[in-house]
Amino acid sequence: MPHAVVLGGSMIGAATALLLERSGWQVTVVDAEHSRLRDDDVTHRAGAPHAVHAHGFMSRTRVELTTRLPDVWAALLDAGVEEVPLAAMVPPSLHDGGRPGDDDVTSARMRRHVTDRALARALDRSAVRLVEARATGLVLGSGKALPRVLGLGLADGSAMTGDLVVDAGGRRSPVSGWLRAAGIVQPERHDESIARYYSRHYRVTGGRPPLNVGFADVHRFACHVQLMFLGDSGTAMVALAAHDDDPVLKTLRHAGAYDAVLGANDAFAAWREVLEPTTDVFCLGAFDNRMRSLVADGEPVVRGLSQLGDALATTNPTRGRGVSMGLMAAGHLADVLAAHEDKDDVALAFEAWRDRVLAVVYRECAATDVTASRQLSAGLAGRSIPSNAPAVEIPEDHAFTAAELERAAGLDADLFRVFLRATALLDDDRRVLSPEVAADVRRVLDAAGPSTPDRPRPTDGLHDRETLARLLAPWQ
Ligand SMILES: Cc1cc2nc3c(=O)[nH]c(=O)nc-3n(C[C@H](O)[C@H](O)[C@H](O)COP(=O)(O)OP(=O)(O)OC[C@H]3O[C@@H](n4cnc5c(N)ncnc54)[C@H](O)[C@@H]3O)c2cc1C
Repeated sequence: MPHAVVLGGSMIGAATALLLERSGWQVTVVDAEHSRLRDDDVTHRAGAPHAVHAHGFMSRTRVELTTRLPDVWAALLDAGVEEVPLAAMVPPSLHDGGRPGDDDVTSARMRRHVTDRALARALDRSAVRLVEARATGLVLGSGKALPRVLGLGLADGSAMTGDLVVDAGGRRSPVSGWLRAAGIVQPERHDESIARYYSRHYRVTGGRPPLNVGFADVHRFACHVQLMFLGDSGTAMVALAAHDDDPVLKTLRHAGAYDAVLGANDAFAAWREVLEPTTDVFCLGAFDNRMRSLVADGEPVVRGLSQLGDALATTNPTRGRGVSMGLMAAGHLADVLAAHEDKDDVALAFEAWRDRVLAVVYRECAATDVTASRQLSAGLAGRSIPSNAPAVEIPEDHAFTAAELERAAGLDADLFRVFLRATALLDDDRRVLSPEVAADVRRVLDAAGPSTPDRPRPTDGLHDRETLARLLAPWQ
């Protein structure tokens, strides 16, 4: 039986371990914090400080879990996770009672640590071996042409070797640094971000007011964004995002300042009435978007290693896609391992999928995040705020633009579904670019006539820096 050594037992490492074990691998998962992954409460983990932050889970997360790990999904439903059907996302003017295929476009309300816990408990029921240890290096063998990863070195001086090492060590995974130190150069794309995140957890104590964008309640101001997701079991999470260097909004780490900013948002008043805080404010500084590859010029750069999750592609949460991307990659790795015997074929087949599917998803996230960073910088500097980035990547020479697609999607129930499937990562084959969709977009826009220009964003209230500074002065 082949042996896989997985670095990282958080969401993506745990999911990968279960998928490989169920397809006939012996699996060992090395994580420095295994015992913390079963916590019932929202508690800080040094190895995954983002796990306490507000998470929203897209339809693709649910699709991957229901199809590949249905027992984990069933455990999540038992733990109070709520499914949100497509109907909750459809604007009232496009309500049509549902269509075949709509079930895929169901998202989930759950807290991040609840998903970690469900996966950890599934690992406990499996034959996967868990090793609680810090990995300190790679065990490298020298192949004739290519270096080969044989295993992980551990902090106690021992080594854990196997036929395949999977790096699911997250965005701060040391593996790429170890490769560099060994002279192995891997291609990497990097897109800067400047957002700092402040999250707090709540209990919902009364009836729920409507959410303003279907899956969340979102409020954009010149210098920050306020966003609320509902969680499992009557919980909610609020996330505030601001410029990492914003001297006024740095006070948001104080619960009083956090409350004051939410309290000054009149459009959030009905929700505030029914939210009771259950944690302090968690704060996380800026980190860049990054996507890596283990293939250069059509050839693997190393043998015996795969990277998944944030170790492969880290994206800021402006699109809330990180977990879906990680689960997609884990599922695809399991598929290519089942389909190919030769290790280089596995690496090349995975790379082809990474290029065709995951890279598009990454570029959309990076475009949104780079624009969001520019918007926060402009707000901080008092300049006019740039428009949003396109939600869907459409090639320049295509029959319609991203803005035209978005407008047509708001006018037609079929195109709304095409658009939503593309944004919810349910369009790996890019049906959105098909001639049929192009013809539909043209027909809908021709019938609708010219569009009205966007209204400029207001500049008063929480948009205004002087108002913000006065409001937050007690915590400066
Ligand atoms: C503020 C914030 C909000 C987010 N919101 C969303 C959202 O709404 N929706 C969404 O889909 N995604 C969201 N994400 C992204 C999502 O959290 C990540 O994509 C996801 O956590 C990646 O999981 P992972 O298993 O790859 O890595 P991680 O969760 O980072 O886990 C890495 C694991 O590796 C272990 N490890 C690392 N190095 C070592 C070592 N040397 N030895 C032993 N163990 C090691 C760590 O202990 C840890 O358990 C958000 C991210 C942030 C920062």
